[in-house]
Amino acid sequence: MTDLQPVRGTRDLIGEDQRRHRHVVDTARGIAACYGFDEWATPIFEDTRVFARSLGDTSDVVTKEMYTFADRGGESVTLRPENTAGICRALVSNGLTQTLPQKVFYAGPMFRYERPQKGRYRQFHQIGAELIGSAEPLADAEVIALGWDLLVRLGIAGETVLELNTLGDGESRDAYRAALVAHFTAHRDALSDDSRTRLERNPLRILDSKEPRDAPFIAAAPTIFAHLTPAAAAFYATVQRHLRRFGVPFRENPRIVRGLDYYSHTAFEFVTTALGAQGTVMAGGRYDGLVAEMGGPPTPAVGWAAGIERLSLLLPAAPALTAAVAVIPVGEAAEPAALDVLQALRRAGIRAEMAYRGNLKRRMEQANRRQARAAVILGDSELARGVAQVKDFASGTQTELPIEALARHFA
Ligand code: ATP
Ligand code: MG
Repeated sequence: MTDLQPVRGTRDLIGEDQRRHRHVVDTARGIAACYGFDEWATPIFEDTRVFARSLGDTSDVVTKEMYTFADRGGESVTLRPENTAGICRALVSNGLTQTLPQKVFYAGPMFRYERPQKGRYRQFHQIGAELIGSAEPLADAEVIALGWDLLVRLGIAGETVLELNTLGDGESRDAYRAALVAHFTAHRDALSDDSRTRLERNPLRILDSKEPRDAPFIAAAPTIFAHLTPAAAAFYATVQRHLRRFGVPFRENPRIVRGLDYYSHTAFEFVTTALGAQGTVMAGGRYDGLVAEMGGPPTPAVGWAAGIERLSLLLPAAPALTAAVAVIPVGEAAEPAALDVLQALRRAGIRAEMAYRGNLKRRMEQANRRQARAAVILGDSELARGVAQVKDFASGTQTELPIEALARHFA
């Protein structure tokens, strides 16, 4: 077997790539906890019906991008393309629809069969937050503030803009849909094939088209604002008021839509110009209809998902690896004592390594190659006195320290 490569659109996360990735997840996990969100981990494959529920679903994800296959028992399963549906399925399967609100954080791999390019992969990773069980506009604002705080903490808020929109309530959306159908039908023959299909099945999705030929008709399309019911307009105004209170800057963009029927009210994206065509780093909205589609009672919910790869690409610098302390016995007799020191340092939470073989010179070279921060050198004469020589590589200084003081010294 030769020349085995990762499958197209998948990548190995090694070294700096993995450190960036983990930094994003760790930071998000910490902030989510401060907002009262608990982490859930659901399976990476589900019954296909969890994702493909309604025939009217014209989203690219469901129609073109899913990894769906029959398992050996003949069941149709799908590698999850996103995790909101899985979380809602889990809420219902675990009988948690009576224990609301549930505030959920998740992180993990997602799978979509699409054309790989920078910031777009077939296996990619998302973090996400879902607040299930609250119909209050404050829930929308809190979920968005959580996302904003994450971007701030990661140092990338300056390069991203929150674009905010409302899809209104059912009545607003029906009126808007009719207005959109009237508008796009007048230009039907000029639209892209995909958009012509959407015109029949889900006209709102045309606003999400990236086809250049659709662009002028999208630019000229009516916005929802004229069609909002007073209640929907008030909801949107309250979300904005809370966002201002939280200090989250935003700009309204009436073209932001989430195509699926179970979305309503708030829709938003955090976008950047720093990643070319893959400009959306975080996307979310209110999906009051999804839990019911999953077989639960009608349950309001709002959330977002963010692509970890895109956030990682925006990070100003890769987090550094903590440099290790190299423990170096001089002579075979010192080795057992060196192992004790090695383990004592590790148990004190200090990254420490010892080469498996070699004389002092070899081991010092090795410590250098592995970019150690210091060497702890233990020879017979040091051991007799209960001390070690500590060479600090940054300053070049060498000092003698009692062995029991080492952990404190490096902490
Ligand atoms: P896009 O318009 O870029 O295809 P999307 O609308 O399909 O995005 P969502 O389903 O809203 O994306 O997913 C939320 C986030 O997940 C996106 O904003 C993006 O950061 C990330 N994401 C989506 N698909 C991919 C992918 N194939 N590779 C890497 N990240 C992705
Ligand atoms: Mg997509």
